[in-house]
Amino acid sequence: MPSGRSTKIAVIGSGLMGSALARAFAAAGHEVAVWNRTPGKARAVGGGTLAFESLTEAVSGRELVVVSLSNYAAFAELVASAPVASALAGTTVVQLTSGSPADARGGLEWAKAHGVDYLDAAILAFPGFVATDYATVFYAGSRATFDRHLEALQAIAKNSVYVDEKIGSAATLDCAILEAFYGGTLAVLHAAAMCKAEGLDPKAFLAQKNSFLGLISVTADAAQGMIESNDFSGDQCSLNTHVAALEHIVRLSTDARISSRFPKELLENYRRALTAGLGEKELPAVFSTLKQD
Ligand code: NAP
Repeated sequence: MPSGRSTKIAVIGSGLMGSALARAFAAAGHEVAVWNRTPGKARAVGGGTLAFESLTEAVSGRELVVVSLSNYAAFAELVASAPVASALAGTTVVQLTSGSPADARGGLEWAKAHGVDYLDAAILAFPGFVATDYATVFYAGSRATFDRHLEALQAIAKNSVYVDEKIGSAATLDCAILEAFYGGTLAVLHAAAMCKAEGLDPKAFLAQKNSFLGLISVTADAAQGMIESNDFSGDQCSLNTHVAALEHIVRLSTDARISSRFPKELLENYRRALTAGLGEKELPAVFSTLKQD
């Protein structure tokens, strides 16, 4: 049941994510205008939203303008139109398009120059999870602007997390989480391929997910203190020993004739730490070798 104050919101972009966001705002009782480059998609959003053909009209008189486009360049193209930019003046733009911290900084610069309040945000959810307990949105920018809109923003994710005043901080956190996700997922898929190639049902490996997720969790916890203190010594397992284990993975992949590119890349990264004289340190010591050459 909708509760709280109704806010005039515009959602720019009626792709998979934008449509889900717009419907969630409308379901929470907000007055939602939608606009999309391909107008049919905006009309198809439904859920009590109102589709506009003109972007200027869609954003005029709105308190909150939520943007969900493929990339920041698409947003820059849209707001290059003087009528659109002047209709946005006085609104708060919440940029939910995924991007890099540099993209976020560019967005803030544009907003400052056009009298727009600006939050950069990153959503950690598939569209089907929007407005459920599985959705998290990270926000960066002015704390006061975030606090002012928090109640309305919670329509898309109760778990709305303010990260930092630094405008790039939500994008940084998003990229960090996504790297762990994509890298970890590639590792899981490569491991399943190794099992299959060796005649072991990948189910046997996947059923052990709690063991490798647990190891990653323990390592992340240990890494936190070690990174803080810049001291990677310990008595659990040396990098020399870890590198030997990685060599087995490369050999298995090569013998079983599956791609060894991923484990070789891992091995190269860990070996670099040995070359740097860190062989007797614990695994997180690799962190100190990751600065760009
Ligand atoms: P999508 O379904 O492909 O939608 C992309 C949207 O961007 C469409 O509305 C498209 O308009 C619009 N667009 C692209 N280029 C444009 C341009 N030059 N000018 C105007 N509009 C343009 O993608 P999505 O899944 O909704 O993703 C949208 C954003 O959410 C992305 O930044 C994505 O990284 C982020 N995100 C998505 C998910 C997810 O699971 N889907 C999760 C987290 C974050 P047309 O319809 O006219 O092409």
